[in-house]
Amino acid sequence: MSQPRTSPDGSSRSIPSERPGLSYWQRTTRAFPHLFANRETPLPPTSKYVIIGSGISGGLTAFELIEAGAKAEDIIILEAREAASGASSRNAGHVRPDAFRGFTAYSKVHGAEQALKIIQNERLVLEKVAQFVKRHNVQCDFNLTTTFDVCMTPEFAKYEADSLEAYKEAGGDSSHIKYYEGKEAQEMTRIPGAVAAYEWPGGSSHPAKLAQFLLRSVIGQGARLFTFCPAIKVEKSSSSSELWDIHTTRGVVKAEKVIHCTNAHAALLLPQLESYIRPNRAQAHTLIPPPALAATESLQSTFSLRYSLHHFYSLIQRKDDGTLVLGVSRTNPTLSEETVASRFSTDDSRYNEEIAEDALRSFGDIFPQYVSKYLVHGEGLDHSWTGIIAMTTDSVPFVGAIESLPGQYICAGFNGHGMARIFTCAPAVARLVFQGDWKDTGLPECFQFTPERLSRMSAGDMPSIW
Ligand SMILES: Cc1cc2nc3c(=O)[nH]c(=O)nc-3n(C[C@H](O)[C@H](O)[C@H](O)COP(=O)(O)OP(=O)(O)OC[C@H]3O[C@@H](n4cnc5c(N)ncnc54)[C@H](O)[C@@H]3O)c2cc1C
Repeated sequence: MSQPRTSPDGSSRSIPSERPGLSYWQRTTRAFPHLFANRETPLPPTSKYVIIGSGISGGLTAFELIEAGAKAEDIIILEAREAASGASSRNAGHVRPDAFRGFTAYSKVHGAEQALKIIQNERLVLEKVAQFVKRHNVQCDFNLTTTFDVCMTPEFAKYEADSLEAYKEAGGDSSHIKYYEGKEAQEMTRIPGAVAAYEWPGGSSHPAKLAQFLLRSVIGQGARLFTFCPAIKVEKSSSSSELWDIHTTRGVVKAEKVIHCTNAHAALLLPQLESYIRPNRAQAHTLIPPPALAATESLQSTFSLRYSLHHFYSLIQRKDDGTLVLGVSRTNPTLSEETVASRFSTDDSRYNEEIAEDALRSFGDIFPQYVSKYLVHGEGLDHSWTGIIAMTTDSVPFVGAIESLPGQYICAGFNGHGMARIFTCAPAVARLVFQGDWKDTGLPECFQFTPERLSRMSAGDMPSIW
């Protein structure tokens, strides 16, 4: 069988790139003992459950399958590279629900009722992550705090105000959202240029530590992770119509249930998704703060710093070590066309210097306390990295059973927002594997993977809202 190649030009029908760079999160977790699990061990010929992808979706699906009664020894996880080396270990660290901003855009595609459900689901995810971390004592630097949406222009302040109004008119709960404008917004956010700001509960975590906790836990119970083992094809088994043959670069494993947790690369094994799930490269940076943003001056909340819908920066400051993590929107209009176009890539081996320069310049504009010329050696830009996010053309993930392929399931397509979605989606998939009904999942119906949804998607795109 010919092997698929990595695709620097961004086709979703590719395996992840073979020489990814390391993110801040990966650089600070190199001692994880399962990083290269079973790298050389032969694959078993069969396994009842095969999960493809070892990010937070794959790890949590395995965890929830075991909670629901699956024998851990019946589960294997296949991972193309080292453990959890996709977006889950390369993101900007936010566990941040959308409180209302996406309402207008979601409504246009999915209707107001679904738009409300999408937003309610994100609020629920924050609670679920907080409960999970507490219940299992997960050491992932989770910080439950508040988050600010900061409007840096009057135009964007108007957009946000209109979205909130539409959300409230449709019956959306806004009791947890605080609003500030002018001087009050500037004082609350410590941003002199803030025009307005909204604040609601949000959080941050060390995403690689969270992903690794999930893997460590399921491996500890008997599940097996095979790293450096890309799956390249899934087809009906020649030996039984009840089984699937999963072809990997290291041989074939047969399974009753196959769960695709491959996010941006989902279309390699599910080619029918090629037009609907698109890899996009995103970039994040760590900065070591100067005294004006350190110690008691550290930022206590997280931020989305917004000039417009598609021009924004995400910011958290880690409670543990004070490191700032700065993410950048993918279509920032201040970037050159060439740089913006370069986001259509699955190459996470390096970062883009123009984006890093823009991020630093903008950070200095927004927080004038950060004056680069006064930084001492060791302060300022620490590290830059990229990761591949999975954009779906209707901006919501694919979740559930794949009817046309009985025994196969998907949990993928998180639109750069997985930390605010996976903790309800992966448990739902685990439940569905055990014959549960979609309605018991409590998820917005528009997340369900159905042939009708694919037909609707083939009729046209919605503009990306993140
Ligand atoms: C720079 C950046 C910043 C982000 N910031 C945030 C943020 O602040 N908040 C937020 O909510 N979200 C953020 N995201 C998105 C978030 O990280 C993702 O939505 C989430 O991690 C998706 O998790 P996952 O497990 O579904 O996918 P992934 O973590 O990508 O896992 C998929 C895994 O599948 C493996 N794989 C793929 N194909 C195959 C194959 N054929 N065979 C075997 N293995 C395969 C991959 O190697 C990978 O490990 C960001 C993403 C990036 C890149």
